[in-house]
Amino acid sequence: MSETPSTPAAEDPVVRITGLHKSFGSLQVLRGIDLEVRRGDVVCIIGASGSGKSTLLRCVNLLEVPDSGQIVVHGTDLTDPDVDIDKARRGIGMVFQSFNLFSHLSVVDNLTIAQRKVLGRSKAESWNIANTNLNKVGLGDKVHSMPTQLSGGQQQRAAIARALSMDPDVMLFDEPTSALDPELVGDVLGVMRQLADEGMTMLVVTHEMQFAKEVADVVLFMDGGVVVEQGAPAQVIGDPQHERTRTFLSRVL
Ligand code: ADP
Ligand code: MG
Repeated sequence: MSETPSTPAAEDPVVRITGLHKSFGSLQVLRGIDLEVRRGDVVCIIGASGSGKSTLLRCVNLLEVPDSGQIVVHGTDLTDPDVDIDKARRGIGMVFQSFNLFSHLSVVDNLTIAQRKVLGRSKAESWNIANTNLNKVGLGDKVHSMPTQLSGGQQQRAAIARALSMDPDVMLFDEPTSALDPELVGDVLGVMRQLADEGMTMLVVTHEMQFAKEVADVVLFMDGGVVVEQGAPAQVIGDPQHERTRTFLSRVL
């Protein structure tokens, strides 16, 4: 065994979850989740409200601490008690349903603050990276705007640009479009589609079945804290094998 932390091999999954359990009091929310996200893959998690999707995503960056099981991200075991959580989290970008921008900071300052404080980048470097990512999400002209001056869709795209500015190994999205007015959903999905095309590794909780069908490499249906069915979208959405998957899909499609 090497003494230095091992560099993950290129073919290792970026995220590997095994036997993940999580309860809140007597409520068992995750009851043995196994999941792998390979480099460059988009994994979409679908399932009814309350099935444990957000808890699963929150476990992946330790916003929730698992009761048991293992979560390895980019070669780091997050469940190892000696792990440097802050360091491990740097490689994990998260975009929430609510946009979570700092309301007292301009758009560009939202994007530079963690780059400077966490990654130690200079003002100039962090600004350049922020600018590049704002252009990428179509907000090149909103650099100096305040979050309240942006639409919900623009705020969500700024939140995506903020996460990208930290050079994540993997991006987690928890229903990123479900708080948006319908006419704003398309722009956010468009940005996510572009990221997928560029090879970003993504774990996406979504109710957007068309997006899952077209963009996902793997779709995973959760119910009652377990993965009921997973596979290619044509399989899970197009030809579900389990009654619970069929029932769910008949309600959302
Ligand atoms: P989903 O994202 O699929 O809707 P969640 O992971 O948010 O599901 O929630 C799964 C279950 O866990 C729900 O019954 C929810 O009320 C419960 N839950 C989630 N977070 C907490 C918490 N911090 N404390 C207590 N119960 C929680
Ligand atoms: Mg949720």
